[in-house]
Amino acid sequence: MSLFARNVQVCVLSSGSAGNCTYVGDGHAGVLIDCGIATKQVMLRLGEMGLENAPINAVLITHEHSDHVAAAGVLSRALAKRGSPVPFYMTAGTAGNLPVASVPDGIELVEPGDTVQVAHLRAECFPIPHDTPEPVAWRVHVGDATIGVITDLGRPTKLVAEKLAGCDLAVLEFNHDEAMLLNGPYPYWLKQRIKGNHGHLSNGQAASLLGDGLSKRLKTLVLAHLSEENNTPERALESAMGVLHGRGVSGEIAVHVGRQRGPLPPMSVRTERW
Ligand SMILES: [Zn+2]
Ligand SMILES: [Zn+2]
Repeated sequence: MSLFARNVQVCVLSSGSAGNCTYVGDGHAGVLIDCGIATKQVMLRLGEMGLENAPINAVLITHEHSDHVAAAGVLSRALAKRGSPVPFYMTAGTAGNLPVASVPDGIELVEPGDTVQVAHLRAECFPIPHDTPEPVAWRVHVGDATIGVITDLGRPTKLVAEKLAGCDLAVLEFNHDEAMLLNGPYPYWLKQRIKGNHGHLSNGQAASLLGDGLSKRLKTLVLAHLSEENNTPERALESAMGVLHGRGVSGEIAVHVGRQRGPLPPMSVRTERW
């Protein structure tokens, strides 16, 4: 092991339509991706996972739906009290449509495709199809390690598959089971929204995206943003494992399912040359 290796910790603090938040950091610098749970919960869950003192140098926002930004206002002030103010990176389309109570101090605008430097980390956003004006997904590069958080997209795209292929660890949306959504309790308009081109990935669509974007780099996969009404961890896992078995790599990739009501234990990605 190189003297210069370092572990990046990735902790999915919450995942699902009641709130999304993921921490990525290497002990020297770190970011939160989205903040759709209460600030108190962000801090509690970080503490529960032994990350209470983990550095937070920026917050990366994907889009303005409340399950991604609810805490932004309160969190920005809480982080400023902890030390220096923290930038909240988001697109202009997202910034212009934030719920009033979720406007953070320190908004920094990005364009889809931009990469911003956060201490020695590089955060890169890219466009995804979702029903907001300018949604993005984020990848965080720490040295030669790449972590991707890719949720809230209505369909797989070539670009997203390419971005997934560059990830060592990916948090990937497996929102709903097609049959459960169709036969479930949601009203017609909501079913149409979810399965539309700018809604959420079904297990089948996510599996197809995983197949297109599967690379030798991928060592850890988190199935994310599962619907509590229209999916089960078992069904999502079955879809993902089908792809991995089919490619003969099911033994090489650790697969976890993100949780809504509690954090997943931190996962490590080794990096060198940061
Ligand atoms: Zn969402
Ligand atoms: Zn959304």
